[in-house]
Amino acid sequence: MKEDIKAHDNVLSLIGNTPLIRLNKITESLPGNFYAKVEAFNPGHSTKDRIALYIIEEAERQGILTPGDTIIETTSGNTGFSLAMVSIIKGYSCILAVSSKSSKDKIDMLRSLGAKVYVCPAHVSADDERSYYNVAKRLHEETKGSIYINQYFNQLNIDAHYKSTGPEIWEQTNGKITHLIACSGTGGTISGAAKFLKEQNPNIRILGVDAFGSVLKKYHETKEFDAEEIYPYRIEGLGKNLIPTATDFDSIDHFMKVTDEESAHTTREIAKKEGLFVGYTSGAVMQAIKQYAEEGEFNENSNVIAIFPDHGSRYMSKVYSDDWMNEQGFFDSVNAEEVQKIEF
Ligand code: PMP
Repeated sequence: MKEDIKAHDNVLSLIGNTPLIRLNKITESLPGNFYAKVEAFNPGHSTKDRIALYIIEEAERQGILTPGDTIIETTSGNTGFSLAMVSIIKGYSCILAVSSKSSKDKIDMLRSLGAKVYVCPAHVSADDERSYYNVAKRLHEETKGSIYINQYFNQLNIDAHYKSTGPEIWEQTNGKITHLIACSGTGGTISGAAKFLKEQNPNIRILGVDAFGSVLKKYHETKEFDAEEIYPYRIEGLGKNLIPTATDFDSIDHFMKVTDEESAHTTREIAKKEGLFVGYTSGAVMQAIKQYAEEGEFNENSNVIAIFPDHGSRYMSKVYSDDWMNEQGFFDSVNAEEVQKIEF
C-alpha cells in the first residue's frame, strides 16, 4: 500500500531543485533575459536549507554526528531556521545563540521548531565571554557530540552550493547562462555556484552584491580590510563587517553596493510586478541588476540568473510594513504622485 502513495518521506527531499522563474515586467526596459532562482521554494523558505542539510550530512558521513547529538550555531536568521528544521527530522538537538537584538517573532519561530535559543547581550564586543560567538563556542566545547556550524568560516558552506546551486543553474539554463548575480553575506552561495559555473565556462560573469556599510567590495578590490567602510545598515544577510573565509573573492568578478532605501522599494516592486513575495536581499539583487544594467553590463544576448535568497513572510514588520518604511524615511524621496497612492 505504502508504495502506491506518492508522498515525500519528510521535508528534506524537497530541499534544492528550486525553480528558475523569468522576470518580466520589472526588467522590461533592460537589455537581456533575466531569471530568478527563487530559493523561497525550499521547505524552510530560504537558500540556507541547502547548507544546513549538506553540512549536517557531511558530518554524518564523517561519523562525527550520530542521532541525539547537538547542532550549534550563532544565528537568528535563515540558517537557524533551516538547522532547526533539519535537526527535527534527523533527531538532533539544535542550540542557537542569538543576539538580544533579534525580534521576539524570530526567537519564537526558532523555538517552535524545537531549537533551544540562548539570547546573548547585543552590546558587548565579539571577544566578550557573553557574546553570542563565545557562548556558542563554549557550548560546543562543553557539549559532547556537538558540531559548530560556523557558517562564515566553514568551507562546507561553499561546497554545498558547488554541489547543488551551481549544477542546478547550469542544467536549468542548458549552459546558456552568461551572468550570475547574488548577494554576499557568508559568501557561500555566490562562491560555490561561481566555482561550479566557471569550471563549465570561465566566461560567465559573476556579479556580487554588497551593502553600503560593509567591507566586502573594498576588500575585493584592494585585498585590504578597511574598518572605515563599516557603519550600521538595515538589510539583514547582505554584506559583513569582517572577511568571511566562506567567500572565495577570486571567483567573483565585480561587486556592486546597494542602498537600504532603493533595495526596500525594489523588494516591494518585485512583489507588485512579478507576483513574487520575496525577502529584502532579493530586492537588493534586483536593485543591483538595475545598476549593473546602467553601467552597460548586459546586452540582448545576456542570460542573467539572479539568486533570490528567501521569502517575503519574514519581512512583514520591515520592508512590507508601510509604518516601518515611513519610520526609516524611505517614503520621503518618493514623488508626490506616488505618496498619494500609499495608505498609512
Ligand atoms: N540573503 C539572506 C536573507 C541571507 O540570510 C543571506 C545569508 N547571510 C544571504 C542573502 C547571503 O547568502 P550567503 O551567506 O550564502 O552569502
